Amino acid sequence: MPAANPLTPLKPADAAAEPVKAAKAGKKKAAKPPVRLEDKLAKLGLRKDMDFVLHLPMRYEDETQVVSMRDAAFRGGSMVQVEGIVTECDIQFRPRRQLVVTIADDTAQVVLRFLNFYGSQTKQLAAGTRVRARGELRHGFFGAEMVHPGYKVINEGAPLPTSLTPVYPAGDGISQLMLRKAIGSALNRVNWQDTLSPALLASLGLQNFEASIRLLHNPPPDVDEHALMEKEHPAWQRMKFDELLAQQLSLKRAQASRRAKGATALSVVGELSNSFLLTLPFVLTGAQEKVLAEIRTDLKQAFPMQRLLQGDVGSGKTVVAALAAAQAIDSGFQAALMAPTEILADQHFRKIAAWMEPLGIKVAWLTGSLKKKEKDQAKALIESGEAQLVIGTHALIQDGVEFSKLGLVIVDEQHRFGVGQRLTLRNKGQKDGDGGGKGKVPHQLMMSATPIPRTLAMTYYADLEVSVIDELPPGRTPIVTRVVDQNRRDEVIERVHAAAQDGKQIYWVCPLIEESEALQLQTATDTHAMLSLELPDLKVGLVHGRLKPAEKQVVMDAFTRNEIQVLVATTVIEVGVDVPNASLMVIEHAERFGLSQLHQLRGRVGRGANASVCLLLYQGPLGGTAKQRLMTMRETTDGFEIARKDLELRGPGEFLGARQSGEAMLRFANLETDQWLVDKARSLATELLEKDMPTVEAHLNRWLGFREEFLRV
Ligand code: ADP
Ligand code: MG
Repeated sequence: MPAANPLTPLKPADAAAEPVKAAKAGKKKAAKPPVRLEDKLAKLGLRKDMDFVLHLPMRYEDETQVVSMRDAAFRGGSMVQVEGIVTECDIQFRPRRQLVVTIADDTAQVVLRFLNFYGSQTKQLAAGTRVRARGELRHGFFGAEMVHPGYKVINEGAPLPTSLTPVYPAGDGISQLMLRKAIGSALNRVNWQDTLSPALLASLGLQNFEASIRLLHNPPPDVDEHALMEKEHPAWQRMKFDELLAQQLSLKRAQASRRAKGATALSVVGELSNSFLLTLPFVLTGAQEKVLAEIRTDLKQAFPMQRLLQGDVGSGKTVVAALAAAQAIDSGFQAALMAPTEILADQHFRKIAAWMEPLGIKVAWLTGSLKKKEKDQAKALIESGEAQLVIGTHALIQDGVEFSKLGLVIVDEQHRFGVGQRLTLRNKGQKDGDGGGKGKVPHQLMMSATPIPRTLAMTYYADLEVSVIDELPPGRTPIVTRVVDQNRRDEVIERVHAAAQDGKQIYWVCPLIEESEALQLQTATDTHAMLSLELPDLKVGLVHGRLKPAEKQVVMDAFTRNEIQVLVATTVIEVGVDVPNASLMVIEHAERFGLSQLHQLRGRVGRGANASVCLLLYQGPLGGTAKQRLMTMRETTDGFEIARKDLELRGPGEFLGARQSGEAMLRFANLETDQWLVDKARSLATELLEKDMPTVEAHLNRWLGFREEFLRV
C-alpha cells in the first residue's frame, strides 16, 4: 500500500480558528465534560471501518510544486505554494492582535498573517525557520501577503509530495491528520469484497470498488487531476453509481413494503361525489380532471395510495382534495385533512364545509386552540364516526384522537410537516375498528405548492406517485412583479393608496428576521403603525404569529370582507390564504426571503380577475444570489421554473429538507449532472430486486446502515 500521506498536512484553517472557540467555551467549561474523539467522529457518521473508507475527500490540494515568490506574485489570487526562511516573526496589535511572519526566498518576500493563532506558533515560526506556505497571494499594504495560509515547518531539501493531497470533510476538533490516520488504518482492515460482480461491472462500464476507493484516498501522481477535482474520474463514477444504486434499492424496497400493506379499497364514487361536482360554482379544469382520475383509480386499490399532488399556488388543489374525501365518504369511510397552520385549516374548513354540509355531510373541526370542551366534542364525533370529514391542524395527530374508520388522509402543504407527523396520522387508520380493518392503513394524499422538479421527485420520492396540476383556472391575469429599491418606499405607499381607492386590497409583508422573533414582531408592529399614520383614510390590519388564533381569525375575517384594505403581515400568510380581491402585494426586504417563500407569498395575489402586482422592495447592495432570486421572481411566475432555479441556487439537500428526503444518502452524486447514472442505477435496482437479493442486501448494508431510516415513510 502506498504511504497514506507523504506530506504531513499543512495547518488547516479550522485548527487555526480553534483558540477563539476554546476561549468562548472556556467560560462554561465546568459544566461540560470533554467530548470524546469517538463521539466527534460519530457526529460525522464515522463509526465502522467502512464509514471511514467511504469518507471520501471533498477536494484535493496540489502541494506537489513550489514556486518562487517572485513568480507567485504574478499569479495574484490563485493558490500557490512558496518556500522560504522566516526573517521576522512578531505579534502586532493593529488593527487587532495578529501574528505577522515574514518569509523570504532568493527572489522576494511574503508576509504570512494570522488573526487567530496559538502562542506556541511564535516559537514554531521563529526567525531562521524554513517554512512551506500555501495560500492565496494578495498584494496588501505592506507588499505580497497570505492571510491564514496553510503552512508546514520543514528541513531544507524535504521532498515534495508526488500526488495530490486529499482534504476531507471534518468537524470541530477533528484535524485532517487525524482523519487521514483513521482512514489509512481502516483501509487496511476493511472487507473489500465487491458488491457487484465483475461481469456486471464490465457491462456497466464501471471500475472495481477497492481500486476506486484507494485511488480517491491516495491519487497517484499521474492521475487526471481535472477529472478528479470535478468528480468525473471513473473512480468517482463508481462511487456515485454505488450510492445511487443504494438509494434506488432502498426506495423501491420501501415501495414494495407499502404495497404489501393492506388498505381498504374506496371503490364508490357515488351520491356525494356527483352532487358535489354539480353544486360547484365552476367546472374543473382539464388538469384537475386528470389528477382526479389518477387519485380515484388509486383509491380503489386495496393497497395504500401514496400520492403527491403538486400544483402551483392557486391551481385549485383544495377542490381536488375535497373530491378525494367525497370518494372516501361515499365508500363509507372517514377522511381527514391536516393543514400546517390554523389560518389555513380554518379556510379549508369554511370552504369545504360550505360545499359539503348542504349535502348532508358532517364536517368536524379540530385544532389546538379549541377549548377543552369543544375538543372533547370534536373527538367524540370523530371516534363515533359521526364526523365523516375532519379538518384541522396537527392537533389531529395528537394523543387521544381516535378515528372510527379512517380511509383517507390528506396532508396540505406537506413539506411543512415532518415525516414523523405524517406517519402518525397514517397510523391512525391502523386501529382495528369495525370498518378500518386490522393492519390496514389509510390512503394518503399529500399536497404541495412547492413544486419539485420532476427529476428530483422521481429520485427522492421513488415511493410516491406524483400528480401535477399544470394549468391554472381560467380568467386569471398574470401577476406583474417589480423589483423596487427600498428608497422608493414613499412611491410604494402612494401606490397602495391608489389601489385601495380602486377597491382593491393589499398585503404588506414585513421583513423576515430570522435571528429574532421578537424583533420581527416589533418590525411588524412598527410597520402597521407607520402605514396607519400614512394612510389615515384606510383601514390597516395586522396579523402575525404571536396573535391568538381567535384574534388572527378576527383580522382575517375582516380582510376577507374588505373591512380591512391593507393587511400588514409577517410570513404567517405565506401558506394557502385565499382572498381573491387582494391584488397588490408588497414584500419588504425581499432579498432576505428564499425563492420558494417569495413564490408562496406572491401566490396570495393573482387569485381573482383583477390584474395583480407584486412589489419586491429590497435594500441594496444585493449579494449575487439575492440578486438572482429577485430577478427570477421578476422574470417568471411559473412555480416549476422557480423551483428549478431554487434547486440550482441552493442544492437539493436544503431544497427538500433532510427530514423528509433521502438527501442524507447522496454525498457524491449530483442529480442534475449525473442523470445518466441515475437511470442506470434505477434499472439495475429493479433487476436486482427481482433476482438477486443477496447482492441487494450486501449493497445496502455497505452503503446505507442507519441512513435508510430516512426512507421508511
Ligand atoms: P391551491 O392549489 O393554491 O390550494 P386553491 O385550491 O385555494 O388553490 O384554489 C384557488 C382558487 O381557485 C380558489 O378560490 C378556488 O375556489 C378556485 N378554483 C379552483 N378550481 C377552479 C376552477 N376549476 N375554476 C375556477 N376557479 C377555481
Ligand atoms: Mg392550498
